[in-house]
Amino acid sequence: MKLEIVTIGTELLLGHTLDTNAAELGRALAAVGAEITRRATVPDRPEAIRSAVAEALERTGFVLTTGGLGPTGDDLTKTVVAQLLERRLVLDPHLLAGIEARFQRLGRPMPELNRSQAEVPEGATILPNPRGTAPGLWVEDARGRVAVLLPGVPREMRGLLADEVLPRLERRLQGGTRRVVRSRTLRTTGIAESALAERIGPIEGEIAPLTLAYLPSPDGVDLRVTAWRLEETEAAARLAEAGDRLRAPAGEHWYGDDGADLAAVVLDALRRGRHRLGIAESCTGGMVAERITAIPGASDTFIGAVVAYADVIKTAALKVPLAVLEAHGAVSEETVRAMAEGAQRLFAVDAGLAVTGIAGPGGGTPEKPVGTVWLAARVHTTTRAVKRVFPGDRDEIRRRGAQAALDLMRRVLAEA
Ligand code: AMP
Ligand code: MG
Repeated sequence: MKLEIVTIGTELLLGHTLDTNAAELGRALAAVGAEITRRATVPDRPEAIRSAVAEALERTGFVLTTGGLGPTGDDLTKTVVAQLLERRLVLDPHLLAGIEARFQRLGRPMPELNRSQAEVPEGATILPNPRGTAPGLWVEDARGRVAVLLPGVPREMRGLLADEVLPRLERRLQGGTRRVVRSRTLRTTGIAESALAERIGPIEGEIAPLTLAYLPSPDGVDLRVTAWRLEETEAAARLAEAGDRLRAPAGEHWYGDDGADLAAVVLDALRRGRHRLGIAESCTGGMVAERITAIPGASDTFIGAVVAYADVIKTAALKVPLAVLEAHGAVSEETVRAMAEGAQRLFAVDAGLAVTGIAGPGGGTPEKPVGTVWLAARVHTTTRAVKRVFPGDRDEIRRRGAQAALDLMRRVLAEA
């Protein structure tokens, strides 16, 4: 089953509002086996809405829209689609009573404008919306073509999709074999996209007909494998098999699947070795600790962190020798090693993790350019320190620094 999506709203085109509805629809529809073949975003203008919906119906016979169902002058979707499908708008007394009751509950008189929300294209199926005033509408024309209209407010859209639209789609998809689009993600970090592609290229053909996408971000490169239009059990089996094949060449850079969070992976590894963690951060200003404390249950393993930004804190709290700072600078192997050891001592733990670097935009030198970050992970009496030079702006360098610190600890624990 193929369909198209039209998201409606001038604010989406101007970039004031992110089109999260389209992304959510993409995920939810693929999961039930409906294939989105095209997506369009149009402004709140009748001719734009009309042509986008008409073209989508010509191509696939099924269009799903969001937005433009409110009571104000810029909400035109219902009127335009009713005209396009040659339906009159009729007042639905039941809907009107519901909207009036909603305002009564809120203790306010209903503005006259909201009356229009009780008008529906003749013959349309009303999809009740308990989260708002505008119902969803399912309109089918004489040729069996379908237009589903959902409100733009994400919470309302999501509710109607789950309660009303997906069950109807699943019913339509029954009968013939249900084919789904499913993905699985292998998460990697510490390796560039191109280096990963060199490792994986030789076996890419082996996972066909599944497709592979490389998705780089400051946290690493995700490998997303997608199974297209397969039966559910076959899709699951093929995805599992492809995952196994890809994990081997990804090697030590792979740290988890799908929604895996590196901080949770590190916490689990620490827990397995009965370690307790202390952190010392400079340029990341607490981001590593933030990542760790975002994981529920971190308190059994994570003891504390210090943001040692000024040199005086590096010497006072972490006991980094002044001579080390003077001889090598705050961003150096010697300093980061002393910081990891200092965190270990300060928090009386056996695992210390430290980051110090130059996040920019100022402060770089030819020997230590902006993006230079030293990381150290110390477990018991062994310290491993690495230098990385990250690309990007201040935000990105800090985010990459935090991820790299977690990754260093993961690797040290894996080797131990
Ligand atoms: P509407 O149904 O067009 O009146 O939209 C109501 C509100 O929902 C807008 O002000 C936006 O904030 C939000 N909205 C509309 N369309 C989308 C979309 N595609 N993605 C995310 N939010 C949206
Ligand atoms: Mg709107």
